[in-house]
Amino acid sequence: MLSTTIVHVCARCGSERLRKNGHAINGAQRAKCLDCERTFILQPRGVRYAEPFKAQVLAAYQDRMSIRGIQRTFGVCYKTVMRWLGGKSGSSARLQGHALAQRAG
Ligand SMILES: [Zn+2]
Repeated sequence: MLSTTIVHVCARCGSERLRKNGHAINGAQRAKCLDCERTFILQPRGVRYAEPFKAQVLAAYQDRMSIRGIQRTFGVCYKTVMRWLGGKSGSSARLQGHALAQRAG
């Protein structure tokens, strides 16, 4: 039988003195460092979308595809797309681009 042991350490100070500290909203185990009192997720999920896929989605947006259409086609939440666009609202990013075009013209 093959078994592995995972030793969790504090994300800030590297200490192994950790205590369970409830769960994140997605159900992931949270921990608290007993030395520096930092709280963090033990095993973060990490990157969900690869960069080429993200570029493909943003290219679809540049081709005037609606954010809701992107959600239907690619299966990416519209809020995620808006976050990738760098603002609270994707339409405001589009409007900013429009305003810049008007200013230049
Ligand atoms: Zn610590």
